[in-house]
Amino acid sequence: MKHTANSFINIGERTNVTGSARFRKLIKDNDFESALQVARQQVTDGAQVIDINMDEGLLDSEAAMVQFLNLIASEPDICRVPIMIDSSKWSVIEAGLKCVQGKSIVNSISLKEGEERFLREARQLRYYGAAVVVMAFDEDGQAETASKKFEICKRSYDLLTKAIGYPSEDIIFDPNIFAVATGIPDHNEYALAFFQATKQIRNELPNVSVIGGVSNLSFSFRGNNFVREAMNSAFLYHAVNAGMNMGIVNAGQIMVYDDIPPVLLERIEDVLFNKRSDSTDRLLEVASDFHGEGKKSVVTDLKWRSENISERLKYSLVHGISDYIIEDTEEARTTADRPLNIIEGPLMDGMNVVGDLFGDGKMFLPQVVKSARVMKQAVAHLTPFMEAENKGNAKKPSSNGKILLATVKGDVHDIGKSIVSVVLQCNGYEIIDLGVMVPAEKILSTAASEAVDLIGVSGLITPSLDEMVYLAREMLRTDCNLPLLIGGATTSKLHTAVKIAPQYNRRVVHVTDASRAVSVVGTLLSTHKRNNYLSEITDTYEELAKQHNTTDRMGPKQSIEGARRNAKRIDWKHYVSPKPSFIGTRLFDTYDIQDLVDFIDWTPFFHTWELAGNYPNILNDTTVGKTARSLFTDAQRMLKKFVKEGWLNPKAVIGFWPANSVQDDIILYGDETRSDTVATIYTLRQQMRRTNNRPNFALADHIRPLNTGEIDYIGAFVVTSGTKIEDVTKSFENDNDDYNAILVKALADRLAEAFAERMHQRVRMEYWGYAPDENLDNQQLINETYRGIRPAPGYPACPDHTEKRVLFDILGAEEKIGIKLTENFAMWPPSSVSGYYFAHPDANYFGLGKIGIDQVADYASRKGWDIKKAERWLGPNLNYNP
Ligand code: SAH
Repeated sequence: MKHTANSFINIGERTNVTGSARFRKLIKDNDFESALQVARQQVTDGAQVIDINMDEGLLDSEAAMVQFLNLIASEPDICRVPIMIDSSKWSVIEAGLKCVQGKSIVNSISLKEGEERFLREARQLRYYGAAVVVMAFDEDGQAETASKKFEICKRSYDLLTKAIGYPSEDIIFDPNIFAVATGIPDHNEYALAFFQATKQIRNELPNVSVIGGVSNLSFSFRGNNFVREAMNSAFLYHAVNAGMNMGIVNAGQIMVYDDIPPVLLERIEDVLFNKRSDSTDRLLEVASDFHGEGKKSVVTDLKWRSENISERLKYSLVHGISDYIIEDTEEARTTADRPLNIIEGPLMDGMNVVGDLFGDGKMFLPQVVKSARVMKQAVAHLTPFMEAENKGNAKKPSSNGKILLATVKGDVHDIGKSIVSVVLQCNGYEIIDLGVMVPAEKILSTAASEAVDLIGVSGLITPSLDEMVYLAREMLRTDCNLPLLIGGATTSKLHTAVKIAPQYNRRVVHVTDASRAVSVVGTLLSTHKRNNYLSEITDTYEELAKQHNTTDRMGPKQSIEGARRNAKRIDWKHYVSPKPSFIGTRLFDTYDIQDLVDFIDWTPFFHTWELAGNYPNILNDTTVGKTARSLFTDAQRMLKKFVKEGWLNPKAVIGFWPANSVQDDIILYGDETRSDTVATIYTLRQQMRRTNNRPNFALADHIRPLNTGEIDYIGAFVVTSGTKIEDVTKSFENDNDDYNAILVKALADRLAEAFAERMHQRVRMEYWGYAPDENLDNQQLINETYRGIRPAPGYPACPDHTEKRVLFDILGAEEKIGIKLTENFAMWPPSSVSGYYFAHPDANYFGLGKIGIDQVADYASRKGWDIKKAERWLGPNLNYNP
């Protein structure tokens, strides 16, 4: 193995029966399936090597090692990393070496039993081509001082390289990490000795590596995870600087060096470098201040606690720390004239700082949401006192304006809207959030009764665009004069300009994200800026609409017949349609979340929080890296909670049917006799004029035509993170904890997508089974390098949301797994995904684009609709104004 000075190799340690009680239990219980999961999780968590140890008195260690390694060998996602065979028994090591195919590392050999044995074992290892960990032990025992550590390593090095020609890059020295701050004076030098020996080894023994098992170091602080994590982290930092380039580290048990509170860090470093005779006592002195469950109190530099009360409140807000907010608010209350003054004084001051930092791009959304949580908790504490003061009718704090937010009728998604709500609250606006599926009538009546200053609506699915148009029209009709903000994934500046703004005297503004919303709202509610701004926006929108109406829609299109003549042609004669393992549906009434976590595509998760970048690089991004890491840590912790508390109840139903295409329709049959039709899926065909050789695609092209005489198959699925999640988010919301409420929703979305990915993989490998040997890592899955597609109704290839009705009916999804469709065909609960499975290797995604009135009429008659209805549901895809 070759290492450069600054590449650190992280070794997973949880597949070690001596180090992990959980793993020991799994092996003892013979639950190798779950044990494999532990290994997989480590690889996912970033372990570049996994250490496997089965040394346990009551185990047949040899057999367990062999069984486990053989299982790993057939798990491509695990065995892509090297295995470290860890045992103090030579027989176990040898048995292990025989199973591992790629390069392995043996942990460990030493001079403990003398040179002869050392060389004999080393020769064997050399024969297997393994790298070897050599412990700094000799005939006299373990090396404790720096000089002894180096001396043993040097002697081992000479023996290995000179006597048997062991490649020096395959030698890894373990100079022993022992516990410090134990109270025994002899132990005070241990960490320093490790650093010094490491430096000397890396300097004087060319090409070798240095490894260490870090968690030993903090052993004497068992029970105080915060201090342990800080010690491990500080040690690791200095050990790596000294040249340690491999580490057995539990990434979950280490904090970011920069996050170690300075007071604590200073005392830890005194211990590590044995700087003072009372180092241990002084560390013990502060240790209890940091007692807690690990990283919980991220910023625990407690100096700010000695500031005056206003400063403390501000500090808590700006840093998003809720640990002291209730006690500080209470203290402020007892000294203030009126509780309201605290809100309008220090709390608002703090929020203004947050708002400014966010506006300047110095603070990011997750931090802002945490600050808002602190604010809400303080206000919640003060509210009963304000009510008592005003006999149940508390005077509200003055606000910069009152804003009504809602997700429109028929739509259920509200993450974006919740975020906007929180951010606006941080900027001093009062928010009335009407939730999801809100009809225009309710929006307007509430706006009137609550005398709001502005309305903001959001939507995720295309039918919501029509709801927004309708709302705008109603606002005009009822003489409502309020500005209307449009936001959400399906909305666009263009649609707002072309369709919504003209309905409502041009008082409509499209906003793209939460940070933009703040400045737009500020401008719209400022009497002297508003009119100028609106007239500017109006000009822009009118210009956009004009361009759009003259160019985009009316471009040359071809007739539907012409498009059909240019359909995609698949050579069906030479294609054998793979047969699914069953026909009909299969229900997954429960599903292990643990099996889904590894399939999460994290990049969209960060985008939800308006952090730009791709996972995993985003974690090291110079601008947002720190925020991203902290958010990611919170996400990991929440996922563990999901598993532990059973907070999610994922369910799925999938199905397969014999099928044939007839022109642009796909006919599904009950069985292979094709005597009864289960359903028809109506697909739409591209109508752009092609100048190149590209076909005019329709999804139906990927299914064997009926007139070939032979049968084909199609599949379908609906997966959901389950309905339980609603209660969890509600309870966070009731605790004024928007941060965790949003986190839960965002993760539920991610898990639904991960579930769709995992289920699709199982379909290819097991249930349809046309790719049993597929071997793709998560990134390849995300890139969709596999055979087949799973287009989703409402997406570009099949934009008609009403087709979800058919999909749900054939799967029996509503009865079986409790997912509902709203009147506009949004899926409820929101964290749900549905689609079709196409198996043909050439099946591809495409965008339908604009279609002509001829296809609309044809489609309407196939579906038994009148043309108006078709125009309504296909609105965004029409190349004409109906
Ligand atoms: N890894 C992503 C996966 C979702 S987006 C995530 O976790 O968010 C990709 C999915 O969107 C596809 O699997 C398909 O179901 C759907 N999709 C994408 N493009 C499509 C198109 N042109 N037509 C139909 N469905 C499409």
